[in-house]
Amino acid sequence: MIDTHAHLTDERYDGDREEVVKRAKETGVKKIICILVEFDERSMQIFNRLLEHDFIFGAVGIHPHDAKDYEKHKDIFLQLLDLPKIVALGETGLDYHYLNSPAQTQKAVFEKQLQIASERNLPVIIHSREALDDAFSIISNSGIKKAVMHCFSGLEEEAKEYLNLGFYISFAGPVTFKNAKKPKEVIKIIPDDRLLLETDCPYLAPQVFRGERNEPSYIKYIYEEAANLKNISVDKLAGIVSENVFKLFGT
Ligand SMILES: [Zn+2]
Repeated sequence: MIDTHAHLTDERYDGDREEVVKRAKETGVKKIICILVEFDERSMQIFNRLLEHDFIFGAVGIHPHDAKDYEKHKDIFLQLLDLPKIVALGETGLDYHYLNSPAQTQKAVFEKQLQIASERNLPVIIHSREALDDAFSIISNSGIKKAVMHCFSGLEEEAKEYLNLGFYISFAGPVTFKNAKKPKEVIKIIPDDRLLLETDCPYLAPQVFRGERNEPSYIKYIYEEAANLKNISVDKLAGIVSENVFKLFGT
């Protein structure tokens, strides 16, 4: 099992971060992609320490919430992208639910990052919330080919548009929620060779721990539910996702 999206620098892990990492390993998590979207000294130090674990890889991006601070973080962000264990740019994208940064700024900063990713030939981890049309038009105009729509919550038609661009679609805890009809339906139409899974921890804990702090070891509940919905074994699904991770992130 691989967790393709974990925010392990979050302060909610300050008391037991190494325990959380150990628990993931003991549960059978073979790789974790740790997402860095904070550029304060503390978070960057934790991130570097996390990357010392063989099985933890990194992604760095300016989150749409912080698009307004792009110029402030730009230099350090570009430096971090050069670290040897960085396998993707992200998360980046658009979030019109929380307009922490104005939409115009979010769009400009998203476009810039897609440009940087294509110059560096890095895959992109995309966050899109309540910004369907703008996100799709920026993405399709960018010519980006290697990307994943992270924590996908859209409808079937939207998923198909991204599949047509060659993208991967990633599902998180909501696929396990009792009342979540949409992701349970949408995951069924995602071809095996385009599917990824993630916790997006510390957010969105799966149904069994809903509302609590999430962590990479809980990815097993997401694999169990996804395997069930796709009518295959967890082992088979784990093999499929590992292959997809290798194709997209090269690890
Ligand atoms: Zn995230």
